[in-house]
Formats: sequence, structure tokens, C-alpha cells
Amino acid sequence: MNSKQTYYKRTFLSGSSVLVVALIALCHIGLAKADWQKAEQDIMGTRITVELYHQNDDEAQAAIAAVMNEMHRIDRSMSPYKPDSELSIVNREAADHPVKISTELFNLLQRSIDFSQLTNGAFDITFASAGFLYDYRAAIKPDEQSLSEAVKHINYRNIHLDGNAHTVSFAQPGVKIDLGGIAKGYAVDLGIALVQNRGVSSALVTAGGDTRVIGERWGRPWQIGIRDPRKADAIVAKIPLENVAVSTSGDYERFFEQDNTRYHHIINPATGDSARELQSTTVIGPDAITTDALSTSIFVLGVEKGLALINQLADIDAILVDSHGRLHYSSGLLRLTSE
Ligand code: ADP
Ligand code: MG
Repeated sequence: MNSKQTYYKRTFLSGSSVLVVALIALCHIGLAKADWQKAEQDIMGTRITVELYHQNDDEAQAAIAAVMNEMHRIDRSMSPYKPDSELSIVNREAADHPVKISTELFNLLQRSIDFSQLTNGAFDITFASAGFLYDYRAAIKPDEQSLSEAVKHINYRNIHLDGNAHTVSFAQPGVKIDLGGIAKGYAVDLGIALVQNRGVSSALVTAGGDTRVIGERWGRPWQIGIRDPRKADAIVAKIPLENVAVSTSGDYERFFEQDNTRYHHIINPATGDSARELQSTTVIGPDAITTDALSTSIFVLGVEKGLALINQLADIDAILVDSHGRLHYSSGLLRLTSE
């Protein structure tokens, strides 16, 4: 794994000018800036960013390291690419016999099934029964026959959890699961809990498209940009955030094009094919596991059904970019923009 670590300190105290030191001593904001720390690493096949404020440098570094360790730990147990991860063992054995699993994985599977029920099956971790036939980097997709065979196994009801024995089993051979639509959000929530337990009250933790922030940044709300799905460095909207999570799912993350069709990593469980009604979905909510699962779900549901679901959920909002590049907002954001 390509692991690049760039701890850096935003220090405005370089040089030993007495004047600078005096100014900093008088200016609280300047002092605050000096104590912000940021680190980035590539873990879980994505970019992890941690940014936080702590008056004590060592404590700040220790908090950042704890978050990165946690990300590695989750990757080891939930990666579909690591043959000895707990998830891979389940995929190999659960159709043959019930597999005893950790409380953590059990709970995450239960949460995943809850989201399947909430979204009428748009979120379904058994998408992987067909999903594994695609290789977006190598531009490989299944032929029609193998796809229609694999799609038969997609159904979250094929996952049987036994709360007494703490096991999971699959209803039939051919069922596979993948937590790519929820594990990063889960990891971000754990990261935020970790830094909070260490006394940090202003922080950002990001894993790819999933972010959660607590407190403020230099006395102002955090600013999260929603990128233009068709222009890598352009932004379609910027939102100020405090104490919330935000997740974006896009058809530009992992894809290839063939015969004028874009094949990308968000799969409609009903067809086993990529969902194509939207270019990106951004969901804002109280925690990142919810926003992660819902951003993937809304991508599958499309504008109408997606917004209908979001509008009936308390504390959740969304910004969608449809296939023509047009923006759609949930009712909570529409109220805000018209105020
Ligand atoms: P990213 O992984 O780019 O942050 P998402 O949060 O949208 O993006 O998750 C996409 C991932 O979710 C896919 O790579 C795949 O692992 C998983 N996934 C794809 N389709 C579904 C689906 N219908 N239900 C649940 N998970 C899905
Ligand atoms: Mg998601």
C-alpha cells in the first residue's frame, strides 16, 4: 500500500522575531493557528485526512496517530482485497456454514441491513455478488449471461444474522458482501470519537468522500466544497459546516467508458449495472455512517425517490447533481437558501 504521511504544523511562528512573538501573544487567533495540526495518509484505498486543534503538540500528534491506526485496523478486518480479513473469510465460508464474527462486524452488518430496509433495497451490501465481476481500473465488465446469473444472488435478505450465536450465514452460494458503501463513514465516526476522548473539540476527519467535523476551524465554520462531477478542480457548491458529517458519492471516482456508457462503482442492486440517473450525491447529517450509506443509496434511487426519502428523514439534507449537471436540493436546504 502506498502510504504517504505528511504531518505538518501550521506554524506562523517561524523566525524568532520578538515582534512576531509579541503579536502572537496578543492575538488569540494567531495562537490558535499555530496549534492546528494536519496529517494525510492513503489507507483503505483512499485518502485519509485528519486536522485538529490541540494546545499540546505531542497530544495532537498522538491523537492523529490514533486515528490513522484505527483506519488501518478497520482496513485489516473489512477489506475485500485482503484474503485474511474477517470480511473475506465470511465471503468464502458463510454459504457453507454460519461464521462466528466480531461484535464490530456483526453490528456493521446489522446497520447495513437497516439501511437496506430504509432505502427499499437501494443500499445493499450483497451488490458485491455481481460487483466483483467488474474491474474499473482494467475496464472489465461481465457479459450479459454471467451478470444475470450473479444478480440473482443480490438481496440483503440472503444475509442471516444470528444474534445469539453471533454468526452470519448466506442463504445460498454466490452471495458476496462488500462494505465499501458504509465502512469509510463508520471509520470516520470512530476517528472523531477517538479525538473527542482525547479532549479535542475542533477537528476534521475525512476518508475519501466522507467527512465529519466537530467545533470550528480558526473561529469559523468548516468549509466543504462539492466538486463538479465533470471538472476535477471546479466546485459547484461550498457549504459551511459545524458538528456534522457530509458524504459525497460520484460516478467519477472509479469508472471506465465503453460504447458511450459510463461504468462506475455504484451499482443498482436490481440490475447489477451502474446507477446512471445522477452524477453525484452529497448528504449532510449527524454522523458519517448515515451520510455514507445514504449518499450511496440516493445515488441509486435518483432525484425523485432520493429526495423523497431525504425529505422524510429528520436532520438529513442532500444536494444532488443530475445527469445533465443540474443541482437539486432537499427541502431543508431550500428553506435555508430562501431565508
Ligand atoms: P466512495 O467509495 O467513492 O467513497 P461511495 O460511498 O458512494 O463512494 O461508495 C461506493 C462504494 O459502495 C462502491 O465502491 C461499493 O463498494 C459500494 N456499493 C456500490 N453500490 C452499492 C449499493 N447499491 N449498496 C451498497 N454499497 C454499494
Ligand atoms: Mg457512500
